[in-house]
Amino acid sequence: MKQLLVSFFSFSIVFVLHACAQKNHQSTRVETGFSVSRTDDEWKKILSKEQFDVLRLKGTERPYTGKLLNNKEKGIYTCAGCGNELFTDEMKFDSHCGWPSFDSEISGGKIITAKDYSLGMHRIEIMCAKCGGHLGHLFDDGPTITGKRYCVNSVSLSFQKFSDVQKKSASTDTITLGGGCFWCVEAVYEKLDGVISVESGYSGGKSANPTYQEVSYENTGHAEVVQIVFDTQKTSIEEIFKVFFTVHDPTTLNMQGNDVGEQYRSVIFYRNTQQYSIAKGLIDQLNKQKVYDRPVVTELSPFSVFYKAENYHQDYYALNKTQPYCRMVIQPKMEKFEKLFKDRLKKNN
Ligand SMILES: [Zn+2]
Repeated sequence: MKQLLVSFFSFSIVFVLHACAQKNHQSTRVETGFSVSRTDDEWKKILSKEQFDVLRLKGTERPYTGKLLNNKEKGIYTCAGCGNELFTDEMKFDSHCGWPSFDSEISGGKIITAKDYSLGMHRIEIMCAKCGGHLGHLFDDGPTITGKRYCVNSVSLSFQKFSDVQKKSASTDTITLGGGCFWCVEAVYEKLDGVISVESGYSGGKSANPTYQEVSYENTGHAEVVQIVFDTQKTSIEEIFKVFFTVHDPTTLNMQGNDVGEQYRSVIFYRNTQQYSIAKGLIDQLNKQKVYDRPVVTELSPFSVFYKAENYHQDYYALNKTQPYCRMVIQPKMEKFEKLFKDRLKKNN
């Protein structure tokens, strides 16, 4: 009898695993589109057994057991499988359901959903858009303004604490922004009162120390960005963002005017939750008031590293005013900025 039970259980386990594997296999349509894809054996080498069961086999951890359930620290929640940034501490709330819960996600399509009819229920499954890892489920019963509850397994998540370096210092702050061609964005911020320095460079991609050539013609994932250091006594992150939404079109995905490509995407690389929530609030406001004809597609991503661009890209507009691109593309942006922010220009300009 014991033997029979043992063989019954091993049969069941084999069957269950097979069923899950099949389920995964059926979704190859999505899997092939993931930028991070590994075989089960490869995943097993980098994930713990619990992480593999949940992320790859769509299991569920027991409620009230996850180590991030009661985490209240400031920082970013990432996918435990691939590091994709999914939530910030400001989106987390205590739902008393036994799993970490969030009321929104970091924008930019980092999470994908699928209908889940398992266990005789109708649910919306949430997965990491980068590796397809199972995160949990999304419900419409959230208590905050979004009405959403992202119910996530703690083992599906890693947590990155905001380091002291990233914390806002008392009198200066730094922000990294992508708004199409960096020559244009840099030129504008050079004139704003309170801006201490502006540097053109690259951020948000995979390769270290990329060149302009690589960012322009290879699939580096980097965006052309400017890194702005500013005096918080003279200007503010709100003003920096308002200028940003004035001088570029935040509604065109991966393009800016005639410049087309991922490197021209509209993106804010925030360094702390304050920058994130102010940017998100402003975007929500712009959408609500229909300031643009189309919704804002600006990506909000946590800052990781900035690579300064080659010297000839620095102060490009100031040094090349007569160039056709400068006259046709940058000059109108400068004029718009100077008109709308005329009381906020540096006095020595
Ligand atoms: Zn992932």
